[in-house]
Amino acid sequence: MALCDECECYDDNWVDGEDITEEELEKDPLYEPHRYYYWHGDIQEDYQMPAGYDCLCERCFGDLLNLGKIITTDDAIWNPDEMGWFIPLEETHGT
Ligand SMILES: [Zn+2]
Repeated sequence: MALCDECECYDDNWVDGEDITEEELEKDPLYEPHRYYYWHGDIQEDYQMPAGYDCLCERCFGDLLNLGKIITTDDAIWNPDEMGWFIPLEETHGT
């Protein structure tokens, strides 16, 4: 599955098994099957998304990259021992 954590667009894998027709899908503005999706999964990546993000479409990835919110191996502060993995969002809100 791929569902962007920022804009909530998604691709085919996301709707697998869902009860939705191709026609309904085509009308959904969030359906973006042709975008590339970046992931933090089981392997170390050469980019570091902000905490709480584990999937971004190429557009949002590019936006965050331009804002300096994504660190890549090209950045001087890249730390291969710690970066390239999903960072869970810390629960700072009390109930
Ligand atoms: Zn997106």
